[in-house]
Amino acid sequence: MTDAPVVLDVEDLTKHFPVRKGFLGRTVAQVRAVDGVSLHIRQGETLGLVGESGSGKSTVGKSVLRLLDPTGGRIHLHGEDITQVSGEALRDARRKMQMIFQDPYASLNPRLTIGDIIMEPLENFEKFSRTQRRERASDLLDRVGLRHEALKRYPHEFSGGQRQRVGVARALALNPSLIVADEPVSALDVSVQAQVLNLLVRLQREFNLAYLFISHDLGVVEHISHRVAVMYLGQLVEVADKETLFTNAQHPYTEALLSAVPIPDPTRKRKRIILPGDVPSPINPPSGCRFHTRCPYAEPRCKAEIPAMRELSPGHSVGCNLR
Ligand code: SF4
Repeated sequence: MTDAPVVLDVEDLTKHFPVRKGFLGRTVAQVRAVDGVSLHIRQGETLGLVGESGSGKSTVGKSVLRLLDPTGGRIHLHGEDITQVSGEALRDARRKMQMIFQDPYASLNPRLTIGDIIMEPLENFEKFSRTQRRERASDLLDRVGLRHEALKRYPHEFSGGQRQRVGVARALALNPSLIVADEPVSALDVSVQAQVLNLLVRLQREFNLAYLFISHDLGVVEHISHRVAVMYLGQLVEVADKETLFTNAQHPYTEALLSAVPIPDPTRKRKRIILPGDVPSPINPPSGCRFHTRCPYAEPRCKAEIPAMRELSPGHSVGCNLR
């Protein structure tokens, strides 16, 4: 996998949202949703991006897809800089990147048949005849484990898991190389989650897809990821391959997240680390290490020194002054 070509390369990505006030809508502050995030994903690889709600992980996903314009940094797709592209170049980039949404109920148009939903991206991007589009939609349904008859039915006739399969089929319609999946199973019953995750793994192998898999649930991320990046308050704090992260996490925030993941063995117990307080506001993040207000190991210097990401071993980077 380390030899596979890099599909997505993000350097120092920043996304700030202005906070406006008053009649004239003056900018009075900035929500620093993402601040200096760098990551890459290779062909056939899944990078899990985890963090609490408000950590900025979904903003990273939307910025990568250029659904949001980055404030700073660079996004390369297959080596091409797509940070500022527009018009035809942006359409071309979007064809190669697709998204699977969190809510399979809200993300499908209830007035369209499943066939029309899957064929919609083809109409927008490719010059296929209606017959060819139907054949493609039928083939995609088959690949996601739904029957051909589903083409003529409507979203409300399907369960949550089946709808998410339709969402996956739609995402595959244009043969993308990168899929950003934002909490794709968190709205599903636990019994259905594993089926959809297994489907994503199978399709990744079949199409050599790169996944940016965004989730707050480390258990889900462990199931599907090759590498994991942990985010806190707009910044990455730890990146490692899955085995290293789950057995040898070095950042105190990762330790706390891991302590909440249940162990399937009833004879073993993990000591739960409860972090004090809530995630601070990204409008005015804490000085120095942004985690210092909640970190059990914080020292006075953590308030002043901004920890840089340091590589502790090949592929394992941590942003903590004490590591
Ligand atoms: Fe905790 Fe300090 Fe490390 Fe931040 S730099 S994670 S506050 S020990």
